[in-house]
Amino acid sequence: MLKICSSCKDTKSLNLFNTNKNRKDKLDHYCKECRRIYDRKRANNPVRLAQMKVASLKHSLTGKNDDTRRKRKKLYPERYLANSLVARAVKSGILERQPCTVCNEPKSEAHHADYTKPFEVNWLCRQHHMLEHRK
Ligand SMILES: [Zn+2]
Ligand SMILES: [Zn+2]
Ligand SMILES: [Zn+2]
Repeated sequence: MLKICSSCKDTKSLNLFNTNKNRKDKLDHYCKECRRIYDRKRANNPVRLAQMKVASLKHSLTGKNDDTRRKRKKLYPERYLANSLVARAVKSGILERQPCTVCNEPKSEAHHADYTKPFEVNWLCRQHHMLEHRK
């Protein structure tokens, strides 16, 4: 049995072709030799290399994020818990985000006088929130 390679147009015996379940005759349309060259070319393709780099960069970035989040959780467990409870409550409509109680800035953060009471929130903008913590 012989088959024509669609890359080099050579007629080769079937054992010189890779099997490919997706094809009608269960054989690759490239001979083994052409397939190897084709795959190598594809592996060195700059677009593919760039895509791979971006993917690994994204992966390492999200990994780092996880790490800092974990560290913060470890450093301020009750603050972390209170803030995540507030975020969840705001999202589900239980709690309403208020403007800064000092200057009315709508971009506010939840400040807790007592982290053990996560829903007793004083809404403060970034600036006033920082001032409050410096007291
Ligand atoms: Zn070939
Ligand atoms: Zn403010
Ligand atoms: Zn605070």
